[in-house]
Amino acid sequence: AKYVYTFGAGKAEGKADMKNLLGGKGANLAEMNLIGVPVPPGFTITTEVCTMYNEQGQKSTFELIKPEVEAAVAMVEELTETKFGDKENPCLVSVRSGARASMPGMMDTVLNLGMNEDAVEGISKKSGNPRFAWDSYRRFVQMYGDVVMEMKPASKEEIDPFEEIIEELKEEKDIQLDTEFTTEDLKELVVRFKAAVKKETGKDFPVDPWEQLWGAVAAVFNSWNNPRAILYRRLEQIPDEWGTAVNVQAMVFGNMGSNSGTGVAFTRDAATGEDIFNGEYLIDAQGEDVVAGIRTPQQITLEGSKRWAVLQGISEEDRAAKYPSLEEAMPEMYKQLNDTQQKLEDHYSDMQDLEFTIQEGKLWLLQTRNGKRTGAAMVKIAVDMLEEGRIDEKTALSRIDPNKLDELLHPVFETEAIKSANVLTKGLPASPGAATGQIVFFADEASKYPASILIRVETSPEDLEGMHIAKGILTARGGMTSHAAVVARGMGKCCVSGAGMVKINYKTRIMTIEGKEFREGDWVSLNGTTGEVYEGKVATMDPDLSGDFGKVMDWADKFTRMKVRTNADTPNDAKVAREFGAEGIGLCRTEHMFFEGERIKAMREMILAKTEEKRRKALDKLLPYQREDFEGILEAMAGFGVTIRLLDPPLHEFVPHEEENQKEMADEMGISVEEVKTLVEDLHEFNPMLGHRGCRLGNTYPEITEMQARAIIEAAVNLKQKGVDARPEIMVPLIGTVKELKLQADIIHTTAKKVFEEKGAECEYMVGTMIEIPRAAVTADQVAEVAEFFSFGTNDLTQMTFGYSRDDAGKFLPIYIEKGILKNDPFQVLDQEGVGQVVRMGVEKGRSVKPGLKVGICGEHGGEPSSVMFCDSVGMDYVSCSPYRVPIARVAAAQANT
Ligand code: PEP
Ligand code: MG
Repeated sequence: AKYVYTFGAGKAEGKADMKNLLGGKGANLAEMNLIGVPVPPGFTITTEVCTMYNEQGQKSTFELIKPEVEAAVAMVEELTETKFGDKENPCLVSVRSGARASMPGMMDTVLNLGMNEDAVEGISKKSGNPRFAWDSYRRFVQMYGDVVMEMKPASKEEIDPFEEIIEELKEEKDIQLDTEFTTEDLKELVVRFKAAVKKETGKDFPVDPWEQLWGAVAAVFNSWNNPRAILYRRLEQIPDEWGTAVNVQAMVFGNMGSNSGTGVAFTRDAATGEDIFNGEYLIDAQGEDVVAGIRTPQQITLEGSKRWAVLQGISEEDRAAKYPSLEEAMPEMYKQLNDTQQKLEDHYSDMQDLEFTIQEGKLWLLQTRNGKRTGAAMVKIAVDMLEEGRIDEKTALSRIDPNKLDELLHPVFETEAIKSANVLTKGLPASPGAATGQIVFFADEASKYPASILIRVETSPEDLEGMHIAKGILTARGGMTSHAAVVARGMGKCCVSGAGMVKINYKTRIMTIEGKEFREGDWVSLNGTTGEVYEGKVATMDPDLSGDFGKVMDWADKFTRMKVRTNADTPNDAKVAREFGAEGIGLCRTEHMFFEGERIKAMREMILAKTEEKRRKALDKLLPYQREDFEGILEAMAGFGVTIRLLDPPLHEFVPHEEENQKEMADEMGISVEEVKTLVEDLHEFNPMLGHRGCRLGNTYPEITEMQARAIIEAAVNLKQKGVDARPEIMVPLIGTVKELKLQADIIHTTAKKVFEEKGAECEYMVGTMIEIPRAAVTADQVAEVAEFFSFGTNDLTQMTFGYSRDDAGKFLPIYIEKGILKNDPFQVLDQEGVGQVVRMGVEKGRSVKPGLKVGICGEHGGEPSSVMFCDSVGMDYVSCSPYRVPIARVAAAQANT
């Protein structure tokens, strides 16, 4: 095996497509050499060595790689005409981590390695700048001490021991800035630093460069397993097994005077995607100085510099004198850098983020990688690069991260406004977007302010209208599939759910977050994309769906196999979803309509009725409402399938719980309040999600199914007579046995026949079922004998496969994820390993008896990219998701098929 890959002077043993072995940085350093970009020579120790190091330990690993490392150092010495620890021409190197996926700032770096009492003399003589040499030396001792000898305090509250010494000496010398230290002061710092190392660790600071090098390599490998890096990997879902490579590279210095400098640049604008080369640099500085924020970085291009000055309120004279662009300050260097950035972008055919250093008038590139970008920039760059002929359509499509499209579909906070905003707490990012408004605690008060934020412990269907009016919704309880989350996503409304720190007192109308009180009318702001809750008013801005967005959607349509439908309950939602490109409705939850206007009364009357006769009377009142709703929805989706689900939720969700409303019902029905109370209490269930709901309602009260079936069929026939292509698909929820479905299907067919006879006209319709109880999936072959289609309800299927209550999982899921028991919230990202197997079995068994069986998904996972990919892999015909996730699902569905 080969453990070390060298690069330098236009040659390299590695190349760009070896990221798994060399890490992103190492692979690109090699590639840059191969295409003639100036890169300081060096070598990469592979990620496989890291794995070996973690498994077998340091000793045997280092013995194994030692000959290759020594040969590689010799190559670097030869190319740079230097020697480790030499009194005349010392070799100094940097040692950096570099994993397959970028993990910015998570792992360790050591610069200026090779410094000792001899080398510092050599650098001093060579550079003619003793101060620079000693400054480099003291930086090295500090960095090595912190990183390799573990002097860096574990907590951020503690001060770095070396910084403490620096402060001491500044006080003694009565100076303010590091730059005021004399060479003698820096020598003194080195002495004190070393003494501190000895005192703290009991070890002498290593003087032998080889000892330094092995120490630094070990430190980088160890840093793969530091808590920060582990946490980052968990968040970004980077496997622990990947390991990091180590890059050892000859040092170049940007702090060697006024013809040196360092900077970072992007080949295009990472915020907007515009094709504008941009970046920042500092003269006479090292990399850390640019990021550290002590000096104000200057712009690279003249144009960028002028724009920057306007924003900063700096006059043109001041700008040119104090903050000149690189283009003005070092025209020749700028020209080379500009050529290089063009070359890199041409070569990689993607926007690059690069780091460079200028050492005494010579340009060096230290890194290039595909630059991180906003959702808007992602779309623009992909479209532009396709139009520039740099990439083909498939590649352009692959450059779209479906999740990032979300940013383009919802309001966002204004960049400047959010900078100064104070985060109060964090909940679950239940529904994306940004919202700002005044607090209300009751849904029926949402219209009290022009912009309100509805804050509830949790929401219920009764709150629907208020949720619609409010700009955003915050709940203290509930997970990603809680009522608030599901409904808000459907509306495209910003929602943060399950913010456990939020305490609400409905009586006093006060919300408390960690001791801080907020009253009705106070301003708060929500970020539904991150789950953050902010104090006060934070300005938002609306998204702008430009023409580029449409182009991305066209690519998606070209490559997709699966269709994308939407979950929509109203004609308006259906229209929005059509505009986003939904082809049909995968789930219309009929119950949501019962809360509009007067309907709830008839619904309550139906539930509270004691006899079938009374129930039928109430159902007769509901029928026209339902028929009208279905006509609206079927018409909005004319020409496409509309899956209408029969009543699903537990009945207690509809009945009045407040005294006032109970009284109203009592009057309406001519019974006593006490009677209403008793009936409401009777409906109470300990575990309503597993109680009297779904088809269990229709099987115990067949007249409900009858009424709904009638409303659907009548609506479809009416539309057909008007020439509208209505395509209803009637769906029975929550079946566990085929018998449950059979009885419901019989009612539906009988009712349809009756309607056809009455009307003397017919329409086409289908009867299918949801697969959301594990038993239904396991016996899907029996179910398919009756069902004309399957729709996987993965919300309930996840609940029942894991045995996690949808409404209560928020209490323990975050801890499970933190501890790594689960990788993701399974209500958000389909658990392919477990729930996915149940789904796969359901599809296969269903199609084993009915090969052409139409199969889709309508749980929340239908809009989550990795879950959509899975649905494609099991051969589903469509996914269905809330309107605002339709574009995301379209891209994911297309990517799944390319
Ligand atoms: C499901 O269970 O996945 C589903 C879509 O139905 P609901 O969320 O309404 O229970
Ligand atoms: Mg369900």
